Amino acid sequence: MAAGGSLSAFRLPPLPTIREIIKLFRLHAAKQLSQNFLLDLRLTDKIVRKAGTLTNAYVYEVGPGPGGITRSILNAGVAELLVVEKDSRFLPGLQMLSDAAPGKLRIVHGDVLTFKIERAFPESLKRHWEDDPPNVHIIGNLPFSVSTPLIIKWLENVSRRDGPFAYGRTQMTLTFQKEVAERLTATTGSKQRSRLSIMAQYLCSVQHVLTIPGRAFVPKPEVDVGVVRFTPLTQPRIEQPFQLVEKVVQNVFQFRRKYCHRGLGMLFPEAQRVESTGKLLQLADVDPTLRPSQLSVSHFKSLCDVYRKMCDEDPHLFAYNFREELKQNKSKNQEKEGEESYRLQLPP
Ligand code: SAM
Repeated sequence: MAAGGSLSAFRLPPLPTIREIIKLFRLHAAKQLSQNFLLDLRLTDKIVRKAGTLTNAYVYEVGPGPGGITRSILNAGVAELLVVEKDSRFLPGLQMLSDAAPGKLRIVHGDVLTFKIERAFPESLKRHWEDDPPNVHIIGNLPFSVSTPLIIKWLENVSRRDGPFAYGRTQMTLTFQKEVAERLTATTGSKQRSRLSIMAQYLCSVQHVLTIPGRAFVPKPEVDVGVVRFTPLTQPRIEQPFQLVEKVVQNVFQFRRKYCHRGLGMLFPEAQRVESTGKLLQLADVDPTLRPSQLSVSHFKSLCDVYRKMCDEDPHLFAYNFREELKQNKSKNQEKEGEESYRLQLPP
């Protein structure tokens, strides 16, 4: 394990450029896997600066690919960098970087969706949740199809204070499709306000710190890219289990153009829908005619708190799923129709 302090002035020795590495190891991007690489080291330096001071930090980079961001992280004076890359074609190029930075770069051939970072760094880095964030950072430019499910998984880890957040309030600096970055950071009332805005903002301070034009990547993706920085909050703005918050938020935003009572109604079985939705809105003191995008995190807090009480009073309520009820009603109706047509066919 690399020591801190004295190594902070480290700079990588002269190396082939990322473009040369790509040629050398024949690392053509697999388009179907959305591999878009950053070759400009000034840009990767800029992304890494947005993560904050990394002096003596322990950094977990997800999806290093040919290693552009990796080089910038190594040059930022980190104590140790652990990278997890799924595609084995990138391993020799990363090994070359590791040889150039002895004792600093650990390479794992694996999947970020299953890799357990909580045991990878020294125990001594752990901080109490209420303390300043630990000197542990997550940085990455992943395919968009991976970064969105991954942030949902990590937000759930934030809520449970486990996974990467077993170290404390580990900070993350990650890239997303620009529209997703805008949704993550959207304020109350804005057009981009969505499920992701609430799920991210009730647990973290979320900042869209940089936009990178698509043309900066090779090959060029269809869209621009947003860099988003997350710092878990000492006190979540909604103190209910992640699944409960997710259920309320998902139900509200499924009818994003309607009044919020429409989506909230779907939390309740049809037979009690009108009455229970009215009760929820009244006790939470939320105007039923607000649109989902107009609801603030504190509106969601009140709604989740009241819904939690209603779930405690009715143990079947949380498991209720309106789609299941719809399906059951449909098959009951089909059965009834079948029976009726059978009866019609019987001789009098
Ligand atoms: N970070 C590099 C850069 O900025 O140039 C590469 C970016 S490319 C968009 C995404 C990288 O993530 C690829 O190297 C890809 O193989 C890797 N990757 C994709 N899914 C992954 C997963 N589930 N676990 C680990 N790495 C993954």
